[in-house]
Amino acid sequence: MERKKNFFAGPSVLPMEVLEQMRDQMVEYNGQGLSMVEASHRGGLFEDMYDECLATFKELLHVPDDYDMYFLGGGATLQFTMIPMNFLRPGTVADYIKSGTWANKAGEDAEKLGSVNYYYDGTDNKFTSLPDPATVKPSKNSSYLYLCSNETIGGIEWQDFPDTGDVPLIGDMSSDILSRPVPVEKFDMIYGGVQKNLGPAGATFIIMKKSLLEKQNSNLTAYMDYKLHSKEKGLYNTPPVFSIWGVKLVLDWIKKNGGAEGMAVRAQEKSSIIYNVIDSSAFFRSPVDAKYRSKMNIVFRLPNEDLEKKFVNEAQKEGMLGLKGHRSVGGLRASVYNALPKEDVVSLAQFMKEFEKNNG
Ligand code: PMP
Repeated sequence: MERKKNFFAGPSVLPMEVLEQMRDQMVEYNGQGLSMVEASHRGGLFEDMYDECLATFKELLHVPDDYDMYFLGGGATLQFTMIPMNFLRPGTVADYIKSGTWANKAGEDAEKLGSVNYYYDGTDNKFTSLPDPATVKPSKNSSYLYLCSNETIGGIEWQDFPDTGDVPLIGDMSSDILSRPVPVEKFDMIYGGVQKNLGPAGATFIIMKKSLLEKQNSNLTAYMDYKLHSKEKGLYNTPPVFSIWGVKLVLDWIKKNGGAEGMAVRAQEKSSIIYNVIDSSAFFRSPVDAKYRSKMNIVFRLPNEDLEKKFVNEAQKEGMLGLKGHRSVGGLRASVYNALPKEDVVSLAQFMKEFEKNNG
């Protein structure tokens, strides 16, 4: 099989090794006479795998012991609701950093449930930049400060995180989790969909400082209640088994390849290959503030939209998929998540240079 070069933003490329393991074990898991996806989530087969998955996740991210970790369903989007429902207390505000599509969606959902203060609003710079983390201070009566560590559509990424003192810091890390080490202890909650760097779509990871639960609103329905999920380790109801199994295998792959630190080296190497092509040409243009460029989602523009369309079509003929920018912003975007081989990034860089030669 000729593998496509997969630049999709998510669901996205998985390590070949993981796909092969899933294929080989799909019908029978470890000689147990049944598949992982047929096993009860209340039995050893699943639970042993789940415990290993969480242990590896904890180890790779260096998560301190006073944090709960588990997976839920509903995508990252469900968390846009659950966070304010649980933690935006009456009579207080929640600070949101309006940095692009994903933080903005989270803020809009929070507005329906309580009072939201946009600490920073990137509307004027078209969400191409971020505030200096050293200057970010939450409001006096803030329940929490919320940010999205990597805006998948805008292509901007926090390089460092604010210190919010006693005010809980909550981060959506859907599109850059485990692409680099993270100071978990700065955050009271980190969450994200797994479908970019961690595995097949379905599960959402939750990493929450146990003390955050003391600040929870009362009278929540069962699925909306983090305390219940924490007590049940995410197994209050049927978990997305297939997705979690994939995550377990991807985490093993990350561990074998140098962990978060190793992934950071890969991300730096791969993203520089493309940013170097952009920076050394007047044909390609990066619309984002160079200080906050994402190492996962590289957004770029060509001189006009016709050329952008042509670029996407010709790249597709070369087996390169997913290079069209998100429909809400246009342009081009190459997502270069952990599992994307470096050779594929080199191929894209060569294609870009060739395209410029023929169309510049
Ligand atoms: N946050 C970020 C940063 C994302 O990139 C996405 C999806 N692309 C979401 C949230 C929403 O995730 P889901 O589709 O899992 O709800």
